[in-house]
Amino acid sequence: MFLEGKRALVTGSTSGIGLAIARALRAEGALVTLSGFGDAETIAALKDELSAPHIAADLSTRAGVEEMMGAAGPVDILVNNAGMQHVAPVESFPVEMWDKIIALNLTSAFDACRMAIPHMKAGGWGRIINIASAHSLRASPFKSAYVAAKHGLYGFTKTLALELATSGVTANCISPGYVWTPLVENQIPDTMAARGLTREQVMNDVLLAKQPTKRFVQVEEVAATAVFLCRDEAGNMTGANLSIDGGWTAE
Ligand code: NAD
Repeated sequence: MFLEGKRALVTGSTSGIGLAIARALRAEGALVTLSGFGDAETIAALKDELSAPHIAADLSTRAGVEEMMGAAGPVDILVNNAGMQHVAPVESFPVEMWDKIIALNLTSAFDACRMAIPHMKAGGWGRIINIASAHSLRASPFKSAYVAAKHGLYGFTKTLALELATSGVTANCISPGYVWTPLVENQIPDTMAARGLTREQVMNDVLLAKQPTKRFVQVEEVAATAVFLCRDEAGNMTGANLSIDGGWTAE
């Protein structure tokens, strides 16, 4: 349990990848704070399972991120994971959806980091793990806001790594390909509409078409990578963008 005594905040940890990361960090002894939305019963069960407080702030607003950071207190491990997707052509992309995706997927990481870094620097140890995406390195049509935000998140992470290089704090991206979570499931109907395809065609010809391994990434694979980044052996790994994408970006 190499993370005993460490405090970790995982944004968007009531579901999918964030939840798997929260579970994996907790299993190594970290004190985890949960964030994100969900029904009261599910959240109560997760708080119980992980002996963790939960903060339901809306991270698509600066006030929401500030509320979360205030409630969480100082953290040693910050995982910026909360994110959302919207699929539409640029010319009909809802402008308020563009603003929300940039705010949640990119600006919330900046705000959480600027508030978390002073404690990490003072202690001489910290881990910032930004959950980016294969879309931080590659584009797909109809995902303009998401692709822009994730490319931005990678650029932000590289800047953090340089600024923090001698402080004992590392900053890295993990970039999954398609992981079977509600975020992917929910974009299937819009992708069907945008491309005129059936559900099966979207799954096989759009999503898995990108991944040479022909299988979805598992949330546990992403979580294991996040745990590795917290090890002392990963202390010289910073500014990296770790792909877990079944070979997508190898092409
Ligand atoms: P998910 O929809 O299962 O979980 C998203 C989490 O974010 C939930 O806990 C949700 O409550 C929270 N959230 C959503 N909007 C929020 C808001 N406004 N304020 C606070 N919390 C909010 O999604 P997921 O697939 O686990 O995605 C997690 C991250 O991984 C995202 O950043 C996503 O872009 C990234 N990612 C996912 C995939 C994939 O294929 N699923 C691939 C690459 C990257």
